[in-house]
Amino acid sequence: MKIARVNVNTEETIYEEISEDSKYYLLGGRGLTSRIIADEVPPLCDPLGEENKLIIATGLLTGSPFPCSGRTSIGGKSPLTNGIKEANVGGRPSIMLASYGIRALVLEGKSLELKFIFIDEEGIKFDSAQKYEGFGNYKLYKDLTIKYGKRIGIYSIGSAGEHLMKAASVAANDLEGYPSRHAARGGLGAVMGSKRIKAIIIIPRKSSEVRISDIKKFREVSKPFAKELAESKRNFSIYGTPNMVTGMSAYGGLPTKNFRMGSYDKAIEISGERLHELVTARGGRKRVPCSPTCVIKCSNIFVDENGNHLTSSLEYETIFANGSNLLIDNLDDIARIDHLCDDVGIDTIEFGVTMGVAMDVGKVTWGNAERVFEIIGEIKKGSETGKLYGNGVCHLGGKFNFKRIPHVKGQGISGYDPRVFKAMSITYATNPMGADHTSGAAIAGRVASQTKDYGELTENKGKLDLSYELQLYTTVLDSMGCCYFIGPSWENMNIITGALNAMYGINLNREDVLKIGKQIIKDEINFNEKAGISQDVNDLPSFFREEPSEPINHKVTFSKKEFQNFWQKLDD
Ligand code: SF4
Repeated sequence: MKIARVNVNTEETIYEEISEDSKYYLLGGRGLTSRIIADEVPPLCDPLGEENKLIIATGLLTGSPFPCSGRTSIGGKSPLTNGIKEANVGGRPSIMLASYGIRALVLEGKSLELKFIFIDEEGIKFDSAQKYEGFGNYKLYKDLTIKYGKRIGIYSIGSAGEHLMKAASVAANDLEGYPSRHAARGGLGAVMGSKRIKAIIIIPRKSSEVRISDIKKFREVSKPFAKELAESKRNFSIYGTPNMVTGMSAYGGLPTKNFRMGSYDKAIEISGERLHELVTARGGRKRVPCSPTCVIKCSNIFVDENGNHLTSSLEYETIFANGSNLLIDNLDDIARIDHLCDDVGIDTIEFGVTMGVAMDVGKVTWGNAERVFEIIGEIKKGSETGKLYGNGVCHLGGKFNFKRIPHVKGQGISGYDPRVFKAMSITYATNPMGADHTSGAAIAGRVASQTKDYGELTENKGKLDLSYELQLYTTVLDSMGCCYFIGPSWENMNIITGALNAMYGINLNREDVLKIGKQIIKDEINFNEKAGISQDVNDLPSFFREEPSEPINHKVTFSKKEFQNFWQKLDD
């Protein structure tokens, strides 16, 4: 496997083999993006300037048949948090990139004109994308598919990325060809836009360069795990992440009305049950895999009343951010917001949290979906109004001198009230990437080991351990290219270790694998320190300590000191 360093200005590519003595050996996905950033990106650089790099990395298990191993990690210095960032995404292209033997594509420099990058059997080439300027992702994907065939892989930006908006995402095509999968968090679409790359197009190849050292051993680990996942996640496959809406509301932890409440009286209208009803009645699809090798298949295809594709996949996070958080109680409206955000290429969480603050300051009336559609239209145009809403929640909150902003390190908080879900408060406060549920989602029922007692959901007991373990195990999964729905658990670290050993012909134990995960987090913390984001910043906005959550009266109860000292465990 190799790293391809692509200068987007000169259009030259330099390949670097990852041999056993390379410092990048046994680094993939987030491990590789974070190491390259830590080594090569000046921590104080302008995230949208020439010195930043956009790294697109496949995982250590990507390209193998290991279940749910087809994710891409995209990394760079974040224009949203000004710290290190990795956001990962499913879809078609990761396995295709791996098939060319590319573990990481590193975009360097800055082009003056808008370009496409093509990857095919002849290598890496460029073409002008000028005539696609301003294209939404939907139209872009349709045109590219007509031109290059249905089996291509695509990473792209919409107009939010072209306009360098700090909440812009990088889209990837799903198995149906829609631009529905997004490396959404942290504004990496703006980094791609700053390099003036509209899309990276991967042409399918007949054979793959991915090799498995001991296929028999690999199957012995991978096959039973795939079977177990398919069976144990069956219910999750049918209802997917939206199934959590009513549960979170019942716990009092569903952020509602800009985190002013934790239960939504209309939760049932935007629930997984309602979504299931609509999708099945209208001829949409459930149990959809978002990328090859997925055996869980938690995605859905949401169609309108006439059976036409509206969005895919409509997920819990989008429903909370643009539903309960804005008092929008109609799934069709939320699906349309999702479609428009995917088209313009913007993070649905950051956008919804930004709209929540806009409604709280009285710029938009609560529940006004029509106005939300118009605002996304302004983001598409790159107008002043669009910039107000497209640059993240802190940007908008700052413009109105509003203090009650749900964010950590500049990134909007996702769909679990940290006052209620105690371990989530730790994950949000301490993660190097800012408030990010995917970095260690300690939500109802989630444990990091079946044999440990982490206490009740809403009490502090056991939660420092739980968040630490989940964050560490998730870092490992992110480096494998694995979806975190396979489970960031102590038990699954054994399975990952077995798969790695069989794939690479090595002999690691679980502690060795966890050491890799610890080093990744250390790299990220070190980069942030140099970028001016020290451990002192680890905290939640004060209103989570001052205002009890409605209706179950909880506050964030961990001390600032506990958040600041949290990562000292890495040296234990
Ligand atoms: S479990 Fe869901 S999110 Fe994960 S790879 Fe499968 S479809 Fe995608």
